[in-house]
Amino acid sequence: MLSLPSSPHLAEWVSRLVQIPSVTPEQAGPRAGEPGEAAIAEAVAGWFAQFGGEVHWHEVQPGRPSIYAIWRGRSGNQGRWLGVDVHTDTVGVEQMTDPPFDGRIAHGRVYGRGAVDTKASLGVVLALLESIHNAGVQLEDNLLIAATVDEETGATGAPGFADWLRMREMILDELVVAEPTGCTPVHGHKGLVRMEFTAHGLTAHSAQPQRGQNAIWAAARVTLALEAEQNRLQALPATALGIPQLTVVLINGGIGRNVVPDTCSVAIDRRLTDGEDPLAVTAQLIGLAEAASPLPLTHEIWRQIAAFYQPADSELVTRMAEWSGQTPTVAPYGTNAWAYGDVTQQRIVLGPGSIDQAHGAVEWVEIDELAKLTGIYARWWGLT
Ligand SMILES: [Zn+2]
Repeated sequence: MLSLPSSPHLAEWVSRLVQIPSVTPEQAGPRAGEPGEAAIAEAVAGWFAQFGGEVHWHEVQPGRPSIYAIWRGRSGNQGRWLGVDVHTDTVGVEQMTDPPFDGRIAHGRVYGRGAVDTKASLGVVLALLESIHNAGVQLEDNLLIAATVDEETGATGAPGFADWLRMREMILDELVVAEPTGCTPVHGHKGLVRMEFTAHGLTAHSAQPQRGQNAIWAAARVTLALEAEQNRLQALPATALGIPQLTVVLINGGIGRNVVPDTCSVAIDRRLTDGEDPLAVTAQLIGLAEAASPLPLTHEIWRQIAAFYQPADSELVTRMAEWSGQTPTVAPYGTNAWAYGDVTQQRIVLGPGSIDQAHGAVEWVEIDELAKLTGIYARWWGLT
């Protein structure tokens, strides 16, 4: 007989996870403990194995392993595959006014870095797997839990997991990407292209500017062409994810007060709606910038992420909305869900707690939210 984990037990699991620092190396400072996901991966892999999972290590980056674990269901390999993607990294802790890793349980909350983003979901998953294992229950569906690295900065964990699935020719029927949504089913968010253009000219004495080639003047024309592109985008019809957006975010150039500048860089942030191909958008922006610049232009691509959109009337969205009692919505922020278009049939983003507490000076998750997610997962996994 299976009994669902109690609220205190859920809180203990989340607290245990918070006490294992896993700050993304890019944001690791003196208070971060051992940076990266290696320690938490080791612990999670141990628990997955203890609860009967078939554990796979995937070293996405040196020293940064994602852990994938499979529980085979009664329906066999041809049955349905349910998946959870929960990232194990957290943002930095240097700005925290609260102890980052004590994982204390107080006021109906669990405190500490990662409590809400997103060790809450991982704690619920582990508590449920423990209950299922102790009760000797085999699920009807196949279950794959992916504890992925590098969500907060580099975003290599999600494409790494997608590649791993592709190599095995696996397609998940349903995937929940864990993020703090207040247990609301999030069924879409915009994609992103971030890149930088650099105009290359020639320095000269500023008293003789005709002897140089001014890169700032060239970059200025590029920014104006990009502004015109943003105006064009604003006239497009809105999609379910809104309108595409483009803005210049950084400009960098010049050598001195009396020197014609030979380089100038302009960085941009372009938000994509459903159906826009990040590679095609990038190529279009390069063409537009090159046409506008009177000087040779190079570019550097920082980030290319497709939009994520699961129609609101999809079966998974409808079911999760019913179980959570919340109206499905689209999010203003990005998540790992972008990476799984071709390796899932249906996907949503859902998890306990509020994005308001994520990345903050004090971070916590409400224990009631943990219990709520436990109830949703229990129904999803056919336990109740
Ligand atoms: Zn997160």
